Amino acid sequence: MTYDLTPRPLNPADKAPAMTWPNGARSALFIGFDVDAETAWIGNNPSNIDRMVTTSHGGYDARVGIGKILELMEELSLKATFFTPGWTALAHAEVCEGILKAGHEIGHHGYLHKMPDREKLDETFEEIDRGFEALEKIFGIRPVGYRAPSGENFPELLAYLAKSGIRYSSSFRDDILPYRHRSAGDRPGVVEIPVNFAFDDWNFGMSSRTSPRPLFGRDTVLPLWIEEFEATHAWGGVTTLVLHPQVSGRPMRWHILRDFLRHVQSKDDVWIATGAQITDHFETLEKERKASSV
Ligand SMILES: [Zn+2]
Repeated sequence: MTYDLTPRPLNPADKAPAMTWPNGARSALFIGFDVDAETAWIGNNPSNIDRMVTTSHGGYDARVGIGKILELMEELSLKATFFTPGWTALAHAEVCEGILKAGHEIGHHGYLHKMPDREKLDETFEEIDRGFEALEKIFGIRPVGYRAPSGENFPELLAYLAKSGIRYSSSFRDDILPYRHRSAGDRPGVVEIPVNFAFDDWNFGMSSRTSPRPLFGRDTVLPLWIEEFEATHAWGGVTTLVLHPQVSGRPMRWHILRDFLRHVQSKDDVWIATGAQITDHFETLEKERKASSV
């Protein structure tokens, strides 16, 4: 493999268009959960399949985390998007069905949570196909949203997602507004709802024997989230959460998340929406712009 290191914008997408949010809202909040379960521990490290304690970090999702998160969403009357690997849906069908029954959106999150690898295109595309198959089998739906497992992407994958009927991705970190990826072939690129890594709970709340990290509690996490949200709100952007039930479904972190969401809800000018709703809105504005420029 040789690498093209020519200086150029590595994401060729056009700049995000100016955005107005529905109902006069100043900003948007997109609550995204990644329901990795055990796949976070076996997708990129298959030998962990024989390490029951290591994989039990992910086992928390089905036993406790997903249920507690659904409880929180119901208490606060919120709808979220749950990016679910196909393996998780097959392994924990009953718990996962509860997500859909509660009226949340199911998104695509690979099959076994393998990080997309441009040097392994067949494997990358197989992850997409098998993910669709599993979600159709368990939920009877075909998701329109995709968040890359381990958050990686590249042009061939973006093109494959668009061809497969995916309408939006939520992985990139390069904006605070949704934008459309550059067209791949004869199809329009997918919409991107960019994420903010400050809202990835894994950074603050996951530590393991094999990957020890410092843990941060309320005094660090809640002010950081509130300040970042307030600043994004002032700039009129979208605050995208990258949460994991095996992290934010833990007792202390569940309370931090609840207090953060209550803070957002205390404002009357934030549009709290799923990824599909944000994509619908983006595409409506896009059509209006096209119509007015004709
Ligand atoms: Zn994940």
